[in-house]
Amino acid sequence: MTRFIFITGGVVSSLGKGLSAAALGALLQGRGFRVRLRKIDPYLNVDSGTMSPYQHGEVFVTEDGAETDLDIGHYERFTNVAGKRSDSITTGRVYSTVIARERKGEYLGATVQVIPHVVDSIKEFIQADLDGEDFVLCEIGGTVGDIESLPFLEAIRELGNELGTERVMYVHLTLVPWISAAGELKTKPTQHSVKQLLSIGIQPDVLMCRCDREVPPDVRRKIAQFCNLRFEQVIPVIDVDTIYQVPIACHSEGLDEQVCRYFKLSSPAPDLGRWQKLVDSVRRPDGAVSVAVVGKYVDLIDSYKSVAEALIHGGIANGIQVSVSWIDAELLEHAAPEEHLRDQHGILVPGGFGERGSEGMIHATRFARERKIPFFGICFGMQLAVVEAARNLADLPGASSTEFRPCQDPVVGLMTEWMRDSVREKRKANGDLGGTMRLGAYTAVLEPESQISKIYGGATTIKERHRHRYEVNINYKDRLQKAGVSFSGMSPDGQLPETLEIHSHPWFIGVQFHPELKSRPFAPHPLFADFIGAAVRQSRLV
Ligand code: GLN
Repeated sequence: MTRFIFITGGVVSSLGKGLSAAALGALLQGRGFRVRLRKIDPYLNVDSGTMSPYQHGEVFVTEDGAETDLDIGHYERFTNVAGKRSDSITTGRVYSTVIARERKGEYLGATVQVIPHVVDSIKEFIQADLDGEDFVLCEIGGTVGDIESLPFLEAIRELGNELGTERVMYVHLTLVPWISAAGELKTKPTQHSVKQLLSIGIQPDVLMCRCDREVPPDVRRKIAQFCNLRFEQVIPVIDVDTIYQVPIACHSEGLDEQVCRYFKLSSPAPDLGRWQKLVDSVRRPDGAVSVAVVGKYVDLIDSYKSVAEALIHGGIANGIQVSVSWIDAELLEHAAPEEHLRDQHGILVPGGFGERGSEGMIHATRFARERKIPFFGICFGMQLAVVEAARNLADLPGASSTEFRPCQDPVVGLMTEWMRDSVREKRKANGDLGGTMRLGAYTAVLEPESQISKIYGGATTIKERHRHRYEVNINYKDRLQKAGVSFSGMSPDGQLPETLEIHSHPWFIGVQFHPELKSRPFAPHPLFADFIGAAVRQSRLV
């Protein structure tokens, strides 16, 4: 029997609902249950693919090629359950499904309305594509009281009514602020938030109360009393120094116990030993290295969430702390790279779109190549590494990417056809932008004995997630190879360069895919682990 736990948020946004859901998922897994985590986003975009990283943070990509909210990344990292397209639901997706059905005449002449049609469709999405999981944790984006979340709240209210308390539970996350002028923690915002939920017909079964300090028993008691809950159902979630502490902290406050008690399930308490070890290794590293990430969305670090996490994982793999400098690529267009990159033990150029900042990334790449500093180019970073090598090693000064404009030597060009297993995918240059890139997991074939194959433990085929519209132009492959750039990984049909390495350099690797999406705290991605290993060696040289 699949049970649903709906997680809503109140008072303010950015309270960490995604992490709280991920932590609860990990705790339930630790008790031996099978979980799936889902995210509902109340915006009209059909998916996150067309959204600016500045507004919404990173676009996460699932194995099956869905472009989703970054919370799906938290879920994957905490539970190691691969997210799917069906785990990411948006208002845009729901409405386009309803409207397509209406066009087909499937509503048999009915007036199509938010209630019941849109709400019914939301209920279908929430219950679709399950596989006998014990729990589905479903996070509702936004804050209670937002107009656009109303249909979703109505849908989860109805599901509670239809499936009953044996199968549905509501968890609500709020803020308990400290008001320094009064020297007091305030419960009123939480009370109001719960009232708002009650006015929609939802009584939360557990409250998670974010707070920057200990929540004393009398405050907890007061919240319980005004929100129709028992004392133990009010769970303080106190700020912690590392996100890996969240499952441990939530468990010690009784979160998973309350869930089991609510559903009348008896299960052994989770063994959190491996989480504790993880926290210890993050808190007590054996040294530190400095890595620069030269990107264009650095003002909002969430734009590179998975890269940031994967670098931490790379540090964990080496028992050291990675201190990251986020460097705006545009700065490097005017300043000498030395100024910003001199003391770095590794340089990473992440994914990106559009011309702005690209020349700065190319300067950073050249600096890393010439100074023999470990370099890792991811997607756009690999494409620009090819441009740099073409210009400065292969004597093609007019080399660039057609993403920016037509150029003399288009060493990176638009892809309009490629193979997905045995099916040919086709795109038009002027087609839709949403959901049309080369997305999701594709196989790459690695040259045996290449540096990258060794990093993958000798593997010669790998599967990694992609998200790009442009690709290294195969027509320049030989010329670049003669100049010292080895394309050690290719798509199975041999048409698309997937990885590059420069052998005259200690660690210079570019990949067309996004390895950061598959890195996990308990299984750091081998490329990140090896990159940080190279940065450690570099730190001993300087
Ligand atoms: N803009 C490049 C492309 O579309 C790279 C994309 C990326 O880095 N994810 O191919």
